[in-house]
Amino acid sequence: MSNKAKPSPDDWRRRGQERFLKGVVLVRRTYRLYREGWDHDHCEFCSAKFSLAEHDLSRGYSTEEQYRWICDDCVDDFKEEYGWTLRDESGPIPA
Ligand SMILES: [Zn+2]
Repeated sequence: MSNKAKPSPDDWRRRGQERFLKGVVLVRRTYRLYREGWDHDHCEFCSAKFSLAEHDLSRGYSTEEQYRWICDDCVDDFKEEYGWTLRDESGPIPA
């Protein structure tokens, strides 16, 4: 358990993500391109960049179809509020 303060109701990262990210399963994995011709993604909350380039994030959490990505820090901050089920590629992550 971290005792970090929960993000406030007016946290700058909020953009209505609860419409599509509430209660979903997130899988921690190495970043991969969603489809051919895709180049990068951004964290759904803080917009940190995921790509195959060295200076960008190379690991994080994605929705099961790997369409939406969220960085570790934002998962940590919002996981209780959003009620995510966190897994890695081999199974559930112990709480
Ligand atoms: Zn983030």
